[in-house]
Amino acid sequence: MPRFGTVLFDLDGTIVDTVELIRQSHRHAVTSVLGIDLPDSELLANVGRPLVEQMQAFDADRAQELLEAQRAWNHAHTAELIRPYPGVAAMLGALRDAGCRTGVVTSKSGPTVQLAFDALPEVAAGIEVLVAVEDTPVHKPGPDPVLLALDRLGASAADACYVGDAPFDVAAGRAAGTTTVGVTWGFFPREAIADADVVLDDVPALEAYLMGPAG
Ligand SMILES: [Mg+2]
Repeated sequence: MPRFGTVLFDLDGTIVDTVELIRQSHRHAVTSVLGIDLPDSELLANVGRPLVEQMQAFDADRAQELLEAQRAWNHAHTAELIRPYPGVAAMLGALRDAGCRTGVVTSKSGPTVQLAFDALPEVAAGIEVLVAVEDTPVHKPGPDPVLLALDRLGASAADACYVGDAPFDVAAGRAAGTTTVGVTWGFFPREAIADADVVLDDVPALEAYLMGPAG
């Protein structure tokens, strides 16, 4: 028996490796629009929140221009720079085979998620429902997107966990009432997600936890 009946995942830095893609997309946006360069820590500080909010943090007045530059570059380079995390597709398959319901809850737009899924169809095949940025008026760290995914699956928060690499994921899952699982292979260091119920360092450890007996 898997530990949870429903497992919801963040996308970027959790089940798909978009670290290099997003780093370069953000850098392109700030250099081409603002003519500045920023250290990675500042460039990637808000990954996991809606893209427009990330761009507002760079320059509130020019967020729309930044967003358009980021999105055009990102979409043009997704197929080239996105990477799978080894073991994720097999883990999703094992969860589905065990009767687990699965979903992705992301602050990305639906079309951008589709590009990622087109590039990594073996990951997409393991995901049952998707909640993207346009699906809720309130985003992570609010509970709304997690609650919508649970609703679409007819699942209860008490029998679900939300797995993510960002502090916004931990906050959203906690606010929705799920168990929170932080993973350290994405955009954020362990300290940023240390208050998750469980923090795990690699995909085999995540699979073992999710497939383990309910405690
Ligand atoms: Mg993430």
